[in-house]
Amino acid sequence: MSKGNKGKIKMKCQRGGHGFFANPDETWKFLCPDCYKKYYVPLSKTHSYEEIKNNLDALYEEYRKKQLALSDKQAEEYENDGYYFDWVEVKC
Ligand SMILES: [Zn+2]
Repeated sequence: MSKGNKGKIKMKCQRGGHGFFANPDETWKFLCPDCYKKYYVPLSKTHSYEEIKNNLDALYEEYRKKQLALSDKQAEEYENDGYYFDWVEVKC
């Protein structure tokens, strides 16, 4: 155990099983810092801690689909505005 983790508890990430260290008062953490940023932070805007903890996979899948739908919509809007360019074949 490295010096910086003294007094910390070894935890296992619920998503991907990554090992990480948490302070003894942070045992509510069920995700490693990377997964926390990637999954928990965006979901926490619309869901409670309990919901995320019990339903992480399903909620994230839903969130990801929404994000994809959003970027499709934006691409469509760009197309309508003339800001969207298709690949142009270059002829020499
Ligand atoms: Zn993780």
